[in-house]
Amino acid sequence: MHKITDKLTQVRHAIQQAAERANRNSNEITLLAASKKQSAQSIATAYAAGQYDFGENYLQEALDKQQALRDLDICWHFIGPIQSNKTRSITENFSWVHSIDREKVAQRLNDQRPDNLPPLNVCIQVNIDREASKSGVYAENILPLAQKIWSMPKLTLRGLMAIPAKQSLDIQTTENHKTAHESAFLTIQREFERIKLQKQAVNFDTLSMGMSNDLSEAIEYGATIVRIGTHIFGKRL
Ligand SMILES: *Cc1c(COP(=O)(O)O)cnc(C)c1O
Repeated sequence: MHKITDKLTQVRHAIQQAAERANRNSNEITLLAASKKQSAQSIATAYAAGQYDFGENYLQEALDKQQALRDLDICWHFIGPIQSNKTRSITENFSWVHSIDREKVAQRLNDQRPDNLPPLNVCIQVNIDREASKSGVYAENILPLAQKIWSMPKLTLRGLMAIPAKQSLDIQTTENHKTAHESAFLTIQREFERIKLQKQAVNFDTLSMGMSNDLSEAIEYGATIVRIGTHIFGKRL
């Protein structure tokens, strides 16, 4: 069997186990294969093994792979930082965008979404650890941005996305750091539940968090999309 096929099976198994531990149904968790810096061939291999959702970070790289794989029925997610001069191409070529962090970008994705496509599924990226270097909105700015997006007919606000601080990922051995890491997940879970109570929050069902190194923890705290790269494809090119 191909290595990617094996690894995909392992990741699916890990999702299943984490869901069981958390008393959740694994059907409510979508595996998104984070395929940045992986070849079109690797994506095709994963597709043949039943993987249909792929996440890309770099627009030109993504467009090249989409072109090469145009015969496959892949659901493409954009998960990288967004420059506002790239919004047209993003909204024309993706079904999901996880990394909305400002109104201007949301407005452009809405205005430029082609009429023949359904509304673009979007998540607000939250800067949960308030790191100056990271993109994403601070918790107190989620609701104001959500309200703007709810007024945009060609966007459907599906939920929140977060990438917890690297520091707490690297040092998980001490109890203190583990606690810090878990509390980041807990914070975003609470924000998610809070926004969900708003009457406009229709189809607000997505908590996009968890990567190769913190998959099971993310599932424990309610992740509905986990974005996994390394553990499926191995090291990036
Ligand atoms: C690369 C990337 C991932 C996957 O990271 P791995 O550690 O390789 O699993 C997930 N989310 C985003 C936003 C990424 O850029």
